[in-house]
Amino acid sequence: MGLTLTVDGPRWRDHLRAYADAHPGLVPVVKGNGYGLTPGRLARRSQWLGVDTIAVGTYEELPEVATRFDGSLLVLTPWRSFVPDLDPALAARVVHTVGRVEDLEALLARHPGARVVLELLTSMQRHGFSARGLWDAAEPVRRLRPRVEGLALHLPLAQGSHLGEVRRRINDAVGSGIDGLDTVWVSHLTDDELEQLRTSFPDFTVRPRSGTGLWLGDRGALRVTATVLDVHEVARGDAFGYRSRTAPKDGHLLVVSGGTAHGIGLEAPTGDSSLRSRAATLARGGLDAVGFVRSPFSIDGKQRLFAEPPHMQASMLFLPAGARVPAVGEEVDVRVRYTTTRVDRVEVT
Ligand SMILES: *Cc1c(COP(=O)(O)O)cnc(C)c1O
Repeated sequence: MGLTLTVDGPRWRDHLRAYADAHPGLVPVVKGNGYGLTPGRLARRSQWLGVDTIAVGTYEELPEVATRFDGSLLVLTPWRSFVPDLDPALAARVVHTVGRVEDLEALLARHPGARVVLELLTSMQRHGFSARGLWDAAEPVRRLRPRVEGLALHLPLAQGSHLGEVRRRINDAVGSGIDGLDTVWVSHLTDDELEQLRTSFPDFTVRPRSGTGLWLGDRGALRVTATVLDVHEVARGDAFGYRSRTAPKDGHLLVVSGGTAHGIGLEAPTGDSSLRSRAATLARGGLDAVGFVRSPFSIDGKQRLFAEPPHMQASMLFLPAGARVPAVGEEVDVRVRYTTTRVDRVEVT
């Protein structure tokens, strides 16, 4: 018993279908913990959506999705000579991301005729060819004849429009003279930007890679809950917990399922922790003034404080006197970051 992610199946599937319809060429991203929903489930959903390609983060993630989705598998991490060997049965389905001439040569020596997208460096400064590097790639591409499936651009999360940068990179690609770069695989463009891009480059195919917007785009379809495991009444001054803290007020200690093993409490607590706001809290004499930190658990719609740092599998909350005390076995809501949370169960209704 830990954390449960409950998915409103019909509502989630409606959202997925609508999102796919609104994003022609969509490439669902199925990576990491599968955005909390597991990669296997997302691979099956991608099959159901009818897309021709999904993207994984790493070569290590391929086996889990490859048996649940039968189309092409784009690997977002650029190929390097030290990535794990590819299962030969998958070779024809995998599209490699390449961003350096030496990798292009080494990949094609190992997998002649490999399918590749050529990545261009963006202002993210993560991976990819510079404009000059792509020019230099033209000769090995002619000589080694990979199946060039397009141009990849990984853009920063929205900070104003990306269109200027995308246009410059597409012009770099055209300038390289490499055939096959007229498909552009992009992330993090708004619907409006995608539309403008298609209008500016009508001969290009635009393929939006999307994870968060697709899988988590309708948060109302998703709910994460923990279970109340124990309740203890405490009076002001009573000692509790690993470090024998004392209760600052009368109230209840609540032990709920879900702890550091699930990713709970590993992030900085949300909210304003500036010196000024801490001073204001102290002045108000709030519970966080005595060192209690806001937890992601909420009871009756109110976010509660950790009574002490979360444990591996459970967390202890403080409920001040006067609040309704939930019973053992009751479910409480948890506000999580889906990509960093390990849930124990996913229930699709
Ligand atoms: C993770 C990732 C995406 C998808 O990002 P979301 O914000 O989840 O939509 C797209 N492109 C690349 C290269 C990524 O690594």
